[in-house]
Amino acid sequence: MKLVLLDRDGVINVDRPDSVKSRDEFTLLPDVIPAIKLLNEASIPIAIVTNQAVVGRGELTRDGLEDIHDYFKDILKKKGAFIDKIYACTSTDSKNFHRKPNPGLLLDALDHFQVKPHEAILIGDALRDLEAASAIKCPRILVRTGKGNKTLEKGLPPAVLPITICNNLYEAVSHLLDEETC
Ligand SMILES: [Mg+2]
Repeated sequence: MKLVLLDRDGVINVDRPDSVKSRDEFTLLPDVIPAIKLLNEASIPIAIVTNQAVVGRGELTRDGLEDIHDYFKDILKKKGAFIDKIYACTSTDSKNFHRKPNPGLLLDALDHFQVKPHEAILIGDALRDLEAASAIKCPRILVRTGKGNKTLEKGLPPAVLPITICNNLYEAVSHLLDEETC
């Protein structure tokens, strides 16, 4: 595995129904930093691929989004961890190629790291994450955090299968690195 593609809200930080609009509203989920550290130590690059329509709706500026991400990067840095790249789609238009479930963000990341879809893995909590990955034949893990359990309860369309299901990001990363069963 040469690249990990991470959804943000519900995988890294607490998913808020009204979106994360400031650093005060950005709350990390448990064991996210150790999970990221494991990937850093294994020299596996990490790219965040996140829909942030909150910007397109005018509820958060691009600078505000940058500030939230700077805050996150600072937290990581203090713990000796890092994310390699963050890709955000700010559009509200479901037809936008970069807005998941469309695969544009994922393709940008794969292109940057020169990795083929089957050599990467996406970890997400929502159906649209799985759809974006399956559209380009990228393997995928659904975590139960964020919208994860609800996504499972609604039932997964056959098109996104097979997937691996893990309780959270730390378990997903452990699974990837140790081939443990989730
Ligand atoms: Mg999410």
